[in-house]
Amino acid sequence: MGATCGYRPSATWRSLMAGKGVLNKGVRRSIGNGRSTGVWTDPWIPSDAPTISIRPSHIEIEDEEVSVLLNEDATEWIDGELRARFEEDICTRIKSIPPNPSQGDDRWIWEHDSKGLYYVKTGYRSLMLETWNQFNHGLDIDEGSTMRFWKRIWKLPITSRYKVFLWRACLGIIPTVDSLERRGMVINEECGMCNSAPEDVFHALVDCPNLQLLWVMASFDYSSRVYHANILEWLVVEAAEWSEEKLVALAVALYHAWERRNNKKFANEVSEQKSYGHGWRESWTSFKLKGLEMAQQIGKTHVIVESDAKLVIDMLKTPCNQASTLNALCRDILSFCSSFQVVIFN
Ligand SMILES: [Zn+2]
Repeated sequence: MGATCGYRPSATWRSLMAGKGVLNKGVRRSIGNGRSTGVWTDPWIPSDAPTISIRPSHIEIEDEEVSVLLNEDATEWIDGELRARFEEDICTRIKSIPPNPSQGDDRWIWEHDSKGLYYVKTGYRSLMLETWNQFNHGLDIDEGSTMRFWKRIWKLPITSRYKVFLWRACLGIIPTVDSLERRGMVINEECGMCNSAPEDVFHALVDCPNLQLLWVMASFDYSSRVYHANILEWLVVEAAEWSEEKLVALAVALYHAWERRNNKKFANEVSEQKSYGHGWRESWTSFKLKGLEMAQQIGKTHVIVESDAKLVIDMLKTPCNQASTLNALCRDILSFCSSFQVVIFN
């Protein structure tokens, strides 16, 4: 871990550097292109505990990078280069993990996670949660990641209603009790769903005790939310690794959490708790079974498909050529529909 604080380090990075000792116990470098990992200065060789290899005396360059052990496009280890430096069993361990050029840059991964990929910020936070709570560091996310996140939001294959809501939720511009009070209104109310906490955006959409069952039952694992207290920060730090469906399901879920809150607040209706991320699958299954199959059986050639699964309908109007479950589902719908002469989605 040769990194130093560098130019204008963020509060997170400074804290990470302060905790290098803790980090060293559990993390190692995952090799992408090998250009930012030192052969003799970073823990990168797969082993029980991350260790830094000792440079043999015949290797004179102290700061060589892992890229010297890889071929030009970083797709394969160069056997001769490995053998010139490491014992047989270490060569075998290195070769057990193929280089992953699609990862791009090398990055830190956490060793002790069940999936083997536990991002350093999360891992570090779980260890150091108490320490973190002593800091009042505010939002701490870098601009590049934030820009990538915004671009991604606007490309999501969902109707703009959900995208705009997600965007507003991230910017904190939805009229919660807290934000109205900040604008000078005197409300003096707590969160209307749980009556036990001030209602800011993160509480209303994510953290309210009243929502926790939905999170637990969701189709995707959103547990990283507990390490954050702000939707934008949560998503910029964590969602880069999420599939498109996972982010889409979250956007839809946040929208409905807000709708549910408004129904309770203004009409005193308590909506049924639907777990997050299931809606579109159920909708497709039901409209396929009840509608299209019946139409097919009775020999119809022209059908109009109407569904309240806006997410699915919107995606059906795109080429559906991305590698995702939702896209696969839509391709399934389209191929099913190819037995009709005319299909209109509504
Ligand atoms: Zn609440």
